[in-house]
Amino acid sequence: MKKMTASEFRQLPSISSGQNHNQNVDETVLPIISDVQKNGDDALFRLTEKLDGVSLSTLYVTEEEFQQAESSMSDSFQTALKTARQNLETFHAGQLEKSWFMNPHNGMTLGQKVTPIKRVGVYIPGGKASYPSSVLMNIIPAKLAGVEKITITTPPDDQGNINPHVLAAAKEAGVDTVCKVGGAQAIAALAYGTESIEPVSKIVGPGNAYVARTKKWVYGDVDIDMIAGPSEICIVADETANPAFAAADLLSQAEHDEQAKPLLVTPDWDVADAIQKEISNQMEKLDRKAIIRESLNQNGHIIVTETLAEALDTANRIAPEHLQLMIRDPFANMASIVNAGAIFLGNYSPEALGDYTAGPNHTLPTSGTAMFSSPLGVYDFVKKSSIIHYDKNALSQASQATMSLAEAEGLTAHARAIQIRKDEGNAPTND
Ligand code: NAD
Repeated sequence: MKKMTASEFRQLPSISSGQNHNQNVDETVLPIISDVQKNGDDALFRLTEKLDGVSLSTLYVTEEEFQQAESSMSDSFQTALKTARQNLETFHAGQLEKSWFMNPHNGMTLGQKVTPIKRVGVYIPGGKASYPSSVLMNIIPAKLAGVEKITITTPPDDQGNINPHVLAAAKEAGVDTVCKVGGAQAIAALAYGTESIEPVSKIVGPGNAYVARTKKWVYGDVDIDMIAGPSEICIVADETANPAFAAADLLSQAEHDEQAKPLLVTPDWDVADAIQKEISNQMEKLDRKAIIRESLNQNGHIIVTETLAEALDTANRIAPEHLQLMIRDPFANMASIVNAGAIFLGNYSPEALGDYTAGPNHTLPTSGTAMFSSPLGVYDFVKKSSIIHYDKNALSQASQATMSLAEAEGLTAHARAIQIRKDEGNAPTND
């Protein structure tokens, strides 16, 4: 990891540059989108054979495959799934929103009606690894919101099978519609529908560059959660941080992939040295050290600031997906953090907890998008409708202001829609 001052770090290209350079990906995904739109299931079977190396006879996971997957799971994995599900449900229940109404004046009722999105598609990556935790993280808030139909799509292996951990997690989360399709073709099928896949209104879930770019293209025809970039961690550490813990957390982030960004910000050169030494010691023993080394060399930075305030300001400029405050009095200092997907406080709250079992969602804004967006939550699976009711008297009170604004915009038919009611006389009306 390169060491530098905060001002040197500010000269580097922005952390948020991860969504550029998509031309080559577009050349691949745009023909796939039109192929799926035009040829439906035929395109899905053909593309799965070409890109995943397997000729499928059916697109859906059968009940028998679910049962086989569940029976092959260890008791400890099943218990872990249950624990994670329960913690996620407890946390996300706090995000439930209710419809509400108000009566600001006599004869007037205003409100906001909350309705779940009816059909949602969840993409679970399946290329290089399996992600049962992502199944729970994406499905539990959707279920709590009241989504009626959830379809998971995930790529099959070259034998046509879906990872059993993913299937066990889908069952634990209460979803049994799993489709064996991956990549751009899966996103296009969810967005536009095929003979056997019903189109959805929203697509969530992480994936590789083809998946992310296709989500961007179908956005507008359907909603999406976010465009996920490479994962990041930023640790702000002072002399109270345990260097071995901080190093372990930076390494845990680096093992995701070569593009992962592990960042350490500290106002203390000795802390920087101690953590760097720990990273070198610990790295050699790790399974994924080749990926870790690449991530640390390409994207890892140690930023040494003049003060803790400058360290916190640097973290805000980065707007990291995961921020760990391993500093004295992290609760008090948290108040000055305004841009972060998730904030982990103290020496005993590593990011790995948030990835799996703590309860908050691990789908978080990446690439600096924590400047303006939030973790995936129940609120992503509902929509709101405004409710307006005026009786005749209340309409009459509002008529002058409404007609003035309509006339100022030259929309005289709008003004007339008010006037016609005012002119109605005293005949009883249907309120
Ligand atoms: P994936 O399921 O996203 O992609 C596999 C699919 O990509 C294949 O089925 C195939 O259809 C398509 N594909 C592969 N090569 C192609 C090509 N040359 N042309 C067209 N399509 C092609 O699985 P993955 O590739 O392993 O990527 C998973 C990604 O998801 C990783 O980057 C991982 O870090 C990320 N991830 C993120 C989170 C999160 O919460 N942010 C969680 C889990 C995984």
